[in-house]
Amino acid sequence: MASVPLGIRKGRRAVSAQEKRVWFRTGFGPLLQSKAMSTPEANMRQIGRRMLSTKAEQFTESVIREMTRLALKHGAVNLSQGFPDFAAPNEVKEAARQAIADDINQYAITWGAKPLRDAIVEKFARTQGVTVDPERELTICCGSTEAMMASMMAIINPGDEIVVFEPFYENYGPDAILSGATPRFVKLAPPDWTFDERELAAAFGPHTKAIILNTPNNPTGKVFTRAELEFIRDLCVRWNCYCITDEIYEHILYDGTEHITMARIDGMRDRTIVINGMSKTYSVTGWRVGWAIAPEDVTQSIRKVHDFLTVGAAAPLQQAGALALKLPSSYYESLATTYAKKRARLLSILEGSGFTVYKPRGAYYIMTDISRFHWDEAKYPAESRDVSFAKYLVEKIGVACVPGSSFYNDPQDGASQVRFTFCKKEETLAAAEARFAHLHV
Ligand code: PLP
Repeated sequence: MASVPLGIRKGRRAVSAQEKRVWFRTGFGPLLQSKAMSTPEANMRQIGRRMLSTKAEQFTESVIREMTRLALKHGAVNLSQGFPDFAAPNEVKEAARQAIADDINQYAITWGAKPLRDAIVEKFARTQGVTVDPERELTICCGSTEAMMASMMAIINPGDEIVVFEPFYENYGPDAILSGATPRFVKLAPPDWTFDERELAAAFGPHTKAIILNTPNNPTGKVFTRAELEFIRDLCVRWNCYCITDEIYEHILYDGTEHITMARIDGMRDRTIVINGMSKTYSVTGWRVGWAIAPEDVTQSIRKVHDFLTVGAAAPLQQAGALALKLPSSYYESLATTYAKKRARLLSILEGSGFTVYKPRGAYYIMTDISRFHWDEAKYPAESRDVSFAKYLVEKIGVACVPGSSFYNDPQDGASQVRFTFCKKEETLAAAEARFAHLHV
């Protein structure tokens, strides 16, 4: 089985009073002190107090990425991690090759190469009708992962709370811990993943700094409606807080659903941080190009954090990104049509194999319920049923999925769910179908 056990919770272990004391005593204090007591023995005693960061100890490595390693180990069909196994668009790859040949090989401006910033601004205005200043309101980062982390570090202070819908994309847990925010979770309920307005309103308060939104949503496929966004807007205005909106799946939509950015909702332009990137729209998850669009003062803060975290994203890939963002609307239509076919295919495979499926309206994942299945749970021991099922599925059946508990604060809330992705070739989906033939309800 895995070297790191599946199912160890991320960001959920309570920090004891003792640990808290240690945490608040760290910083430069102990280092300065150890210099004063300069014997090696005294230094070792100081160092021995805490060798690892309390923050880093509060979460494990990503369960999703761990599932990909398990898929490789067991030769399983990988329907866990959301990366396409088909080719990226030729013209985008050619632009990257050309950029390297043209010697765009040194650091770009730390907050992003001008051609890419201009292309992002032009596209955001064209598709969402929101005007952004490329000089003052935009930061290119190493993927939307860094854009999210840099944004949180740019606005969070000790004592700040963030509101997070759950199930949530697993990065938001460690993002909260590393930036120092306390998360307040609000449930999205299947099958439509609606939220209770009273529960959401109760999660906001004087300490709320931001709400984290992800639309279209991973893992549920929910696409927030205008009415829902307006309800969230009213809470943001009432409690004077930001909305950080992860819109990385903006072009992967089904059934005529429309993506509306929170930045477009009346009254939210100056309270919204839009996180986006190239990974999903252009099938280049390995390029690590993403961005944060934010009001000028927030952007100044994001740019400083970003500069010292990473300096900048890969210069030739930013250059190629400028071309990608200028692709015609037919590119995005064809992307959505391709994924609609894959969604239909995987929905039918999963339903045919006994899963209860929740049909997504956007993004490229299907959340399922596994309550109907029986397997030898004693052979696949785990802290929750979904993790046991995921182990059984990858080891015995030969298909990798993501255990539902990795998307919840309390693992038990996701214990009857697992997530599959369909950003895969037809052959990959067909191979999964063949293996599911050995799965019995
Ligand atoms: N945000 C969401 C909601 C995701 O699902 C993912 C990847 O699966 C990311 C961000 C990561 O994006 P990037 O590759 O730009 O860092």
